[in-house]
Amino acid sequence: MSQTSNLKTNPDACPLAKKCGGCQLQNMTYDRQLRWKQARCEILLKKFGKVSKIIGMDEPYHYRNKVQAAFGRTKSGKIISGVYQSGSHRIVSVDSCMTEDEIADKIIVDIREMVPKFKIWTYDEDKGTGFLRHVLVKRGFTSGEVMVVIVGSSGYFPMKKKFTAALLEKHPEITTVVLNINSKDTNLVLGDKEEVLFGDGYIEDTLCGCVFRISPKSFYQINPVQTEKLYNKAMEFAHLDAKSRVIDAYCGIGTIGLVAAKTAGEVIGVELNPDAVKDAISNCKRNSMKNARFYCADAGDFMEMLSEEGESADVVFMDPPRAGSSKKFIESLAKMAPDRVVYISCNPETLARDLQLLTKKGYKVKAIQPVDMFPHTNHIECVVQLIKK
Ligand code: SAH
Repeated sequence: MSQTSNLKTNPDACPLAKKCGGCQLQNMTYDRQLRWKQARCEILLKKFGKVSKIIGMDEPYHYRNKVQAAFGRTKSGKIISGVYQSGSHRIVSVDSCMTEDEIADKIIVDIREMVPKFKIWTYDEDKGTGFLRHVLVKRGFTSGEVMVVIVGSSGYFPMKKKFTAALLEKHPEITTVVLNINSKDTNLVLGDKEEVLFGDGYIEDTLCGCVFRISPKSFYQINPVQTEKLYNKAMEFAHLDAKSRVIDAYCGIGTIGLVAAKTAGEVIGVELNPDAVKDAISNCKRNSMKNARFYCADAGDFMEMLSEEGESADVVFMDPPRAGSSKKFIESLAKMAPDRVVYISCNPETLARDLQLLTKKGYKVKAIQPVDMFPHTNHIECVVQLIKK
C-alpha cells in the first residue's frame, strides 16, 4: 500500500489537466485509478469468468517513450510548444508531463529555446506560413537510443547543420535527427518526405528479448514496461511449445508474433496496414527468425481463406483495434478450431461483445487479466485466455 492509498484525490494532480484532457483520471490517486479500472472490467466481463487483479505500474510516471509537441506563437510573439487544447487547435504550452519521458520533454523545451536563436519561424496553421510544425522524440528505454524528428512545412531549413550541431551538443544522448516534411493542410503530424540530418534515421529497442526497429512513422508500443508484462501474460496463456502453429492476427509490426516465434514451431501474422507489415518483415529478419511469415490482409478475410483451405492452428493471438474483431473473423476462427485463443483488447466493451460470440462458438474463458498500460488515462487493456470446450 502506498502512502497515498487512503486519499481520494491525487496530491500530484496536473495543473494543465482541464485544458489538455489527456489524463481523465489524474485527479484520483493511482490506487484509486486501479480500483476504478478493475471495477469497469468486472462490470463488463465478470459474466465470462473471474477477473484477476489488475497489474499496475510500480512507478506510474513518465512511462511514455514517444512524445510529440506542436509549435506555435502567442499573440505577443512568444514561442510555445505543447499539446492542442482538447477539442480545439489552440496550443497549450507544456514543459513537462507526468506521463511523458523526462529526457524527451527536456529536449523539446531546449529546442523551443533554440528556435529564436536560429531564426526559425513557427508554422501558422491558419495562414499556412512559417516552418516548424512539430517536434517528435522517441526513446528506446532499453537501448537508450534517442530519435528527434523536426517536422517542417518544407525542406527549406537554412540553418539545419548548425541547429543539429547545437542540439547534439546540448543532448549528446541523441542518436539520430530527422527532418520530416509536411506541407499539407492536415491534422496528421508527419508528412511523407524525410531527410536524415544525423545518424541512421531510426532507433532500435528491445522488447521481450526481440529487437525492433523504430522509424519516425512506425508504430511501437508507448509503454514498454507494461507491454512486457502484458506479452509475458499472453505467452503464459498460450502454452507454446516447439510444435505449436500460431496465428498472430492484427499483428501490427509483428511484436507478439516474433516473441511467440522464439518458442513456437511456426507463426503466421496478418495485418491490414501495409507499412506495419513491411516493418514486421524487417523485424523478422533483424531477429533472424526463420519460422515467421507476415501477410497484408483484412484479418477476417484471411481467417476465412485459411479455414476454407482446411488450414489449422494450435493457438490464435488476436489484438484488434478499439472497434474489436468481426463476426467473419470469429466464425472462421471457430471453424479452424484452435485449442487456445489469446485475446488482447484495448476496449473492454467490444471485448465483451466478442467474448459473447466466442463462447457461443465453442470457447470457454479460462482467465481474464487486466493490465494498466496507460496510468492516469481511462484506457483499459485486458488479456483473455480461451480454450476449446
Ligand atoms: N499486435 C500489435 C498491434 C495491435 S494494434 C502490437 O501488439 O503491437 C491493432 C492493429 O490492427 C493495428 O496495427 C491495425 O492496423 C490493425 N488492424 C485494424 N483493422 C484490421 C483488420 N480488419 N485486419 C487486420 N488488421 C487490422
